[in-house]
Amino acid sequence: MTHILTLNAGSSSLKYGLYDATDPPRPLTTGKVGRIGGTARLSPADGPARDLPGVTDHATALISVLSELHNTHPKARVTAVGHRVVHGGLDYDAPIRLTPEILTKLDALSPFAPLHQPHNLAGVRAAISAFPDAAQIACFDTAFHRNHPFVNDTFALPRRYYEAGVRRYGFHGLSYDYIASDLAQHEPDLSRVIVAHLGNGASMCAMRDGRSIASTMGFSALDGLPMGTRSGQLDPGVVLYLMDQEGMSPGQITELLYNQSGLKGLSGLTNDMRDLEASSDPRAAEAIDYFTFRIRRELGALAVSLGGLDGVVFCGGIGENSAMIRARVCEGLDWIGISCDADRNAANARVISPEGSPVRVMAIPTNEEIVIARAALALG
Ligand code: ADP
Repeated sequence: MTHILTLNAGSSSLKYGLYDATDPPRPLTTGKVGRIGGTARLSPADGPARDLPGVTDHATALISVLSELHNTHPKARVTAVGHRVVHGGLDYDAPIRLTPEILTKLDALSPFAPLHQPHNLAGVRAAISAFPDAAQIACFDTAFHRNHPFVNDTFALPRRYYEAGVRRYGFHGLSYDYIASDLAQHEPDLSRVIVAHLGNGASMCAMRDGRSIASTMGFSALDGLPMGTRSGQLDPGVVLYLMDQEGMSPGQITELLYNQSGLKGLSGLTNDMRDLEASSDPRAAEAIDYFTFRIRRELGALAVSLGGLDGVVFCGGIGENSAMIRARVCEGLDWIGISCDADRNAANARVISPEGSPVRVMAIPTNEEIVIARAALALG
């Protein structure tokens, strides 16, 4: 028996999965190193969690994951490693088996997603050293959105920027791919669906018949919703002001917009939604107000793009677990067919709208790992 390893480096987490290389891949174990950059903690799905002192970044987190897997599955023979890679640029609209040339091309896309792409590619390189004979497969977060209509793909800049790749790529594609396959299997009657992936990174996607037609994320993973530490949509005039009047360098603005803004910047407290929900500080409440306000604003815009709405799906750490955020998003939206049943919502039920509701509102745990494992099986 051979095995597939999946690696999914988020902005503050490293999720992993070990699978039998069967069709479909059978999960043996999954887990996560969370709060990287703070007090890193390893949480295997099937064992006790423990702190990882000394783990300060994604590369050291990966070493801990490999040692954990070596202890729990000493006989595993990894023949394919599937990686989440945030940016595939214009060239990659499907998973691909990596070569040194492709890896170099992907390095060149790091400025488009500086918070993720370098971590993803560091993970690829660490996996090549750990498993030199295994196939390395990249699965791109941008791929699911590559066929957007022109109006959702472009900015109103002179044409030459579009030709040079300054486009709306959209991200979280593996998560949306998973939700699309879940909906195709379990809710085949739903055509026009908005999916809200609400984690430390957050975005929304409008899908028609399982295909993305619009995303709140654009050229970079900064656009759209406010996130744990990212600003989300911002008037570009603010960036000009920071440069001209505050004398900030591109590096300082990058640090501000990617690492010091969003829920953390607005609350002045934390990027963690659980901690914000528990806080009595009025700034925590204002950060949550802004988060839900922007989700609702995008919901309206995406519903118009779809020409109506059949379903709404919440996923990601916040979307799957926070009944409060889901209730706040759905509040007073009966006029577009959205409502939320308090008991179903509190129980984290799959369908949280009342029976017979015109729009089916759901909370569906996403599974980016299985999407990666399927691709690694197919291409490994
Ligand atoms: P990443 O984008 O790093 O993969 P996740 O999808 O794991 O992030 O989501 C992390 C976010 O989910 C954090 O803000 C965390 O506080 C939030 N979260 C997790 N569980 C809950 C919960 N029960 N209630 C509210 N928020 C939660």
